[in-house]
Amino acid sequence: MNRSTDGPADDRTAAEVADTAAAPAEVADAAVVGAGPAGLSAALYLARYNRRVLLFDTGHGRSTHHQVNHNYLGFPDGVPTVELRRLGLAQLARYPQQVRVARHRITGVRGNGADGFVLAAQQHRWRARTVLLATGVLDHFPHFPGWEPCVGRSMFWCITCDGWENRGRRVLVVGHTDAAAGEAMQLHALTDDVTLLTNSQQDGISGKFRARLRAAGIPVLHDRLRGAEAVDGRLRAVLTERGRRIALDALFSIQGATPENVLARELGLKLADTGHIVVDTEQKTSVPGVYAAGDITSLHSHQVTAAVHEGAQAASAANYFLYPPELRAD
Ligand SMILES: Cc1cc2nc3c(=O)[nH]c(=O)nc-3n(C[C@H](O)[C@H](O)[C@H](O)COP(=O)(O)OP(=O)(O)OC[C@H]3O[C@@H](n4cnc5c(N)ncnc54)[C@H](O)[C@@H]3O)c2cc1C
Repeated sequence: MNRSTDGPADDRTAAEVADTAAAPAEVADAAVVGAGPAGLSAALYLARYNRRVLLFDTGHGRSTHHQVNHNYLGFPDGVPTVELRRLGLAQLARYPQQVRVARHRITGVRGNGADGFVLAAQQHRWRARTVLLATGVLDHFPHFPGWEPCVGRSMFWCITCDGWENRGRRVLVVGHTDAAAGEAMQLHALTDDVTLLTNSQQDGISGKFRARLRAAGIPVLHDRLRGAEAVDGRLRAVLTERGRRIALDALFSIQGATPENVLARELGLKLADTGHIVVDTEQKTSVPGVYAAGDITSLHSHQVTAAVHEGAQAASAANYFLYPPELRAD
């Protein structure tokens, strides 16, 4: 491998990759699926183990919105998530012999640790000796016209990420479960102005949490979003089906997320009830030669620090797996 691209792949790149895959001598050591913080970290560590890496990404996911990551060490003013991705790709570009980046959505994968794996996207095929899944999750943000520019600017999902910046502000929590009620209670420790909107025909908030919300003076509105007023991604108000206009500074969506686990299912990996991939502390999955890192697992909290750590750990475990017997201690 002798070429790295950090922008969208053109047809030539796709053809090159396909040709490479067709040649038996060009089996990659590792295919990393997902170039968010977890996948970038994994690819970097593998490159520095002098492994040949294929890194696939489609450019959607949690690290592609508008948020500034405030709590990642080394960035006193925070770092925009897309800038962190750009920096990660720039770091990888220093290893052109080791890493190839391809803008493909991997739609199929099969194989095993003994014979290797084949990954597929449209008409292309690639071969690799190990697979690292860093595919993240798909958040269920409320959808209204112009919702996406709000994500990371005034629409959030996690108090750890964005609670601090919203101290003392008007916060609307959206969700109909105890998780949403719990988040509202925790945000109430940062601001007196919290309202909960169920945004669902269901209301799954238990009596216990309802009592806590009542005691804290947090209004619960059983109503659904139908629109919003926003300027440049800054929400000013949301509008509901029952004709309410709720003025706000920030919306915290606690409506869940779906793990991007299609490839994990295809490989027969063990999944948790939530759909996240089950891994051990070395990021090994239930299938030898397959590793998982970042938000697609539920080993650690879903933060950039954890994703970067898990990517690094997965890469080290894959590298060890690739050693010939004489280099292994076991
Ligand atoms: C609004 C918001 C604010 C946040 N703020 C913070 C913060 O302040 N601090 C913090 O630490 N964290 C924050 N986070 C969380 C952080 O973004 C995630 O924890 C982190 O992005 C997880 O990294 P990841 O690599 O596991 O997944 P992702 O960043 O989601 O990356 C997964 C990648 O996999 C790719 N992919 C998926 N399936 C395929 C496939 N089949 N083929 C090819 N590519 C595929 C996607 O395109 C995507 O690029 C925030 C998240 C959001 C949404």
